[in-house]
Amino acid sequence: MAPRVVCLPGDCIGPEVMAVAQRVLGVLAPDVSLEDRLFGAEAIRRTGDSLPPDTLQACRMADAVLKAPIGHPEFDAADVRPEQGMLRLRAELDVYANLRPAREGAIDLVIVRELVGGLYFGARGVRDDGTVFDTCEYHPSQVERLARRGFELARARGRRLTSVDKANVLETSRLWRRVVHEVADDYPDVDVDDMLVDNAAMQLASAPERFDVVVTENMFGDILSDEAAVLGGSLGMLASATIGGKVDLYEPVHGSAPDIAGKGIANPLGAIASAAMLLRHTGKLEADANIVDAAISHVLEAGHRTPDLYSGKTKKYNTTWEVGGAVEQQFSDSAMRRYAFHAV
Ligand code: NAD
Repeated sequence: MAPRVVCLPGDCIGPEVMAVAQRVLGVLAPDVSLEDRLFGAEAIRRTGDSLPPDTLQACRMADAVLKAPIGHPEFDAADVRPEQGMLRLRAELDVYANLRPAREGAIDLVIVRELVGGLYFGARGVRDDGTVFDTCEYHPSQVERLARRGFELARARGRRLTSVDKANVLETSRLWRRVVHEVADDYPDVDVDDMLVDNAAMQLASAPERFDVVVTENMFGDILSDEAAVLGGSLGMLASATIGGKVDLYEPVHGSAPDIAGKGIANPLGAIASAAMLLRHTGKLEADANIVDAAISHVLEAGHRTPDLYSGKTKKYNTTWEVGGAVEQQFSDSAMRRYAFHAV
């Protein structure tokens, strides 16, 4: 059955990029139901809460949430801020695996980051003598469920998985490595290798095309996924999926960009690529997701660019809607070819 999607248009450039992503979904996958809900700065203005109860309830009942960025300068110094609703939403949906793809030329990798364990969630405090501590903890079940996500993903892609840890120093990393290899027994068709995180950081910068799926713990993933982000060109291009919990959450990586809001120049490709991830992971509509990904590549090759991708070689830039329209045109053609093929 086609997924039911709650859309959170968000703040500043949020509604601009969301409108384009929704149009792409509407044309390519008209059975997917889309329902807008109030969230972020506008929700605070109208209800005093950035994640009003009926929005949260709608998200809980949906198959997926497609979220545009939130955040508005009006609330930067306020007690109630749009970003608080975002953290609450992630916690309420109980999502534990963050997927960040990076594609550019020969580079095609996905970082799968564990999101609810490790150093960011372990015991912390201050001792009597003034020492401050954070602890890194993992239960084997947390590693196992994340590793399975990674292997399933690798199986659907290039069948290579790199597990990143610091097993030469950390106990949690030795646990991580052991559990990943136990899970690997169930996926004999996927090649696995282990890499220490310092080496992984270097390889991502010097030979990123060698990676397919990378699985790693929370803090390593936080740092490596931001490093991988620069491979794609612009922040505006990057998509993310946060899955494995009650309801899948999809969102572009970028923020609400108040500096360019209302100018019609926001790059919509991160939001469109997030919609493609939704089709792939929640909708199981792999063919449709591939059409969107291919359309994005073609549009870039054809030179359609918002100003964030402007280079000396590019003579002019396109608006948000022009880039969205160019994507739509590309996949309309591919969709027509696909339907023609099915009809034969
Ligand atoms: P930002 O990502 O909004 O902007 C950083 C720079 O990138 C700016 O120059 C901006 O113009 C540019 N940029 C971002 N997205 C773009 C796009 N799609 N097309 C073209 N250019 C783009 O980060 P920031 O300025 O640090 O934060 C602004 C607001 O966004 C803050 O309120 C912050 O809290 C919020 N934020 C929200 C999320 C989220 O909702 N997931 C993530 C990050 C930041």
